[in-house]
Amino acid sequence: MSKKVRVRFAPSPTGGLHLGGVRTVLYNYLFAKQHGGDFILRIEDTDQSRYVEGAEQYIIDCLNWCGLHPDEGPHVGGEYAPYRQSERKDLYKKYAAQLVKDGYAYYAFDTPEEIEAMREKQRAEGKHTLHYDHHVRYNMRNSLNLMPAETQQLLDAGTPYVIRIKVEPNEVIHFEDMIRGRVEFNTENIDDKVLLKADGMPTYHLAVVVDDHLMKITHAFRGEEWLPSAPVHILLWKYLGWIDDMPEWAHLPLILKPDGNGKLSKRDGDRLGFPVFAMNWTDPKTGELIHGFKELGFLPEAFLNLLAVLGWNDGTEQEIYSLDELIEKFSIERVHHAGAKFDYEKAKWFNHEWIKKLPVSRFTSHVSSLFKEKGITITDEEKFIKVLELVKDRCTLLTDFYEQSVFFFVAPATIDIDSIKPKWNENKQMFFVELIRAYNLLQQWDHNDLENTFKEIAAAHQLKTGELMLPLRIMLVGGKFGPGVFDIASVIGKEETVERIEKTLSELG
Ligand code: GLU
Repeated sequence: MSKKVRVRFAPSPTGGLHLGGVRTVLYNYLFAKQHGGDFILRIEDTDQSRYVEGAEQYIIDCLNWCGLHPDEGPHVGGEYAPYRQSERKDLYKKYAAQLVKDGYAYYAFDTPEEIEAMREKQRAEGKHTLHYDHHVRYNMRNSLNLMPAETQQLLDAGTPYVIRIKVEPNEVIHFEDMIRGRVEFNTENIDDKVLLKADGMPTYHLAVVVDDHLMKITHAFRGEEWLPSAPVHILLWKYLGWIDDMPEWAHLPLILKPDGNGKLSKRDGDRLGFPVFAMNWTDPKTGELIHGFKELGFLPEAFLNLLAVLGWNDGTEQEIYSLDELIEKFSIERVHHAGAKFDYEKAKWFNHEWIKKLPVSRFTSHVSSLFKEKGITITDEEKFIKVLELVKDRCTLLTDFYEQSVFFFVAPATIDIDSIKPKWNENKQMFFVELIRAYNLLQQWDHNDLENTFKEIAAAHQLKTGELMLPLRIMLVGGKFGPGVFDIASVIGKEETVERIEKTLSELG
C-alpha cells in the first residue's frame, strides 16, 4: 500500500451505539493500527430530522470506554477539520453545483404533492418500488425538462428545490469488496437519489463521497446495510472525477438475533434481556433507558474481544484476544460473508474469562462504586484487594462482585436457615459450640489452623466434615455460595466469624 491508510467511522448521531456499530469501529481501528494508519471519527449529522441531542457525546464516551481513540475527530480536531458534516454544509453545495453543471445531476422543483401524485400513479400501475428515476424524470418539474431560462427563473425566485443525481439506466457497476469479492449492480433499478436537500444540506450519499475524498480516506468499512448505496457512491466518485482515489470497501456482515432470524435490534435486547448498546442510553425524547454492556458489568477488553470474533476468526482455535493481539492478527479478508448470530451466554463467557485474566486493580474502582451505591464505603484497601482476588473467578459480570464479596464487609442480613434445618441435630449443635470455643482460643488466625481445628473437632464428634462445611458456609455467607469457607473465615477475622456462628446457632436453637 503506497498511500497512508486512513479509515473512518462515520456514525449519524441518532441514538445509542449498537454493538454492530462498535464492531465497525473496531474493525476500522484494527485495520488502521495494523497498517500504521489513521482512524478518523466523522459525525454525519446532515439529517436534521433524525438528529438527537447528546448522541455525539455519547458516541465519543463509548469509544473512550472501549479505548478505541480516534486520531482525528470533532473532539480532538485534525488536519481535515471540521469533522461534523453540519459544519461543512457550504462545501457540499459547491460539488452538487458542479455535478449539475457537468450534466450528472439536475435541479428538481417538484412539490411534495407532485411527488405524491407520481407515487400514486406508480402504485396504480402496480409498481413495487416508487422511484423517481429514468422512467419518470422526464415527466417531472426539473431542470432536465424545463428550459434553462425557466430553471434560472425558479432558482432566482427562491423556489425550493433539491438536486438529484441523474442515473443512466442499464449500466453495470461493479467493485471489489474486500470481504465479498466482486459485487455488481445494474443501474436500471437505481433511482435518482437526492444529493442536496431543500434545506441546503447534503444527503448522506453526497456528503459521504465528498468527505471520504477530502479526508483522503483509503478504506471504508461499514455495515452491510449500506451495500445497496454503493453504486450511487461509485457513480458520484466517477462523476466528480475522483474515481482513481475511491477507497477500497468492505461491507461488514450483520449481527443477527440469537435465533439467526434477522438483524439484532435494540428491541431484541429488551425482549430477550440482554444489552445491545455499548453504554446506557437514555432517549432524550421519551426518557426511555436502554441498558449498555458497560453498566451491566462488562469489561471493555471482553466487549471488544467478543465483538472481534463475531464475524471473524484467525483460522485457529484461539478465542481470547487482547487488543494488541487483534491488531497483530486481524485480517479483513477473513471476515465472514454471512451474518453472525449474537449469543449472550457466550458474551458473558468472554467477560468471565477476562475477569479471571486481568489483575483486580483493573476493577477495584468499579467494584467500590458498586459498594458505594449501596451505602458501603471500603476503608481497608488491603482487605478489599484480597477479597476481590478470592472471588474473581466466580464473577461473570463486574456487577457480580457485589453479591460475591459484600459478606466480607457486612454480616449477611438474612441467613438461609431453611437449608440448614432439615439435617440439623444436637450433635451438630454441640460441634459448633465446641468450634466457637476452640476458635476463640486460637493464637493464629489463618486458613490452615482454622481448617485443622475444624477437622479435629468434627472427628471428635464423629461427624463428617462434608456435613458441617455447608452449615458453616451458610452461617458466614448467608447462602450456599462463595469461595473456600476457611478463606472467608480467615479474611473476616475471629470476632466476626464467631459472632456469625453464634447468631445462627441462636436462631436454630
Ligand atoms: N452515516 C452512516 C451511518 O450512520 C455511515 C455509513 C458509512 O460508513 O458510509 O452508518
